[in-house]
Amino acid sequence: MFSSLTGNDRVKEVLKRMLTSGRLPGALLFVGEEGIGKKLFALEVARALNCRSPRENEACGVCSACSRIIKLNYPTSADSDDWKQMIWTNHRDVGMVVAPKRVLRVEQMRAIEREANYRPVEGNARVFIVEDADKLNDPSANALLKVLEEPPSTSHLILITARPAMLLPTILSRCQVIRFAPLSAGEIENYLTTNNLVDAKSARIRARASSGSIAKALSGDIDTFTGQRKAMLKVLEALVMTDNRVQLLRSAEQLNEAQYKDEFEERLDVLETLIRDAWMLSLGSQREQLVNEDLAKDLEPLAQKIDPTRAAAWILEIEDMREQLIVNINRKASTDALFMQMASGEIPQKRFTVK
Ligand SMILES: [Zn+2]
Repeated sequence: MFSSLTGNDRVKEVLKRMLTSGRLPGALLFVGEEGIGKKLFALEVARALNCRSPRENEACGVCSACSRIIKLNYPTSADSDDWKQMIWTNHRDVGMVVAPKRVLRVEQMRAIEREANYRPVEGNARVFIVEDADKLNDPSANALLKVLEEPPSTSHLILITARPAMLLPTILSRCQVIRFAPLSAGEIENYLTTNNLVDAKSARIRARASSGSIAKALSGDIDTFTGQRKAMLKVLEALVMTDNRVQLLRSAEQLNEAQYKDEFEERLDVLETLIRDAWMLSLGSQREQLVNEDLAKDLEPLAQKIDPTRAAAWILEIEDMREQLIVNINRKASTDALFMQMASGEIPQKRFTVK
């Protein structure tokens, strides 16, 4: 059942409507960040189509078809030849292809074409998932187009990608796009604890470090994130409480130290979420609405003093800095300038008018 999947209620509604009307498109494209459950949603669609005792067009989750569809038989070797084969589930109508190395191969698309032309072997519909569809190159994309042009009515293709801009327009135009949103920190925390993946305290922190991805929540380095938040909280405190420029310049320096070089942008992200949280608290938001809910105690005194107009200006400053990072700027000088500008209390009027 879709209700057993985490988050993305709007996507659930859309898919349920398609299934109920009997008009599930022949080709779907699931777009959204890595690790937010796109593949699980695709398998759930395959289950709904093949379930032996569906309830209101949703899979029961327990019949033999349902329980076999979620088991993908990944190759056990690293041999790329094995990864070129169709990866079947334990159900003979549901399979997936993944890129053996950096690209999806023509022969994999031909395999889909061949299989899609067969009638369902044991269920009602055949479903083929193409993982990381952005790894199609021109030849494999063209091979896939053949299936997308006239998919047999009993076969469905579900393409999955985090980078839709990499797909050829001809592929995009033949798929119905379904957009997945990042999960909320609360949804991720809930997922981690109800599945007993980590203890409650660590789930809380990991969920907040995850940028909406369960995969990232599980693989993320908690110590790094905790350190980043501590350092950035100091910056915010220096800005709001004391207007402590010495502390700000020290923080700017630290942000540019070699050991944190790779974390530079992550730290800016963290600072931005802390500013937003203090700002939201100052406007009367509840603790549960904060990204850094677990730091509410540290943020509340800041919220008492923060000037909402300045907070808005700070966020614009950070956004500007982020844009400048794309071109080659001197990070050290820019960070100093950023923090001093933020401390100055001047509101950069032009930035309110450009957008
Ligand atoms: Zn079932």
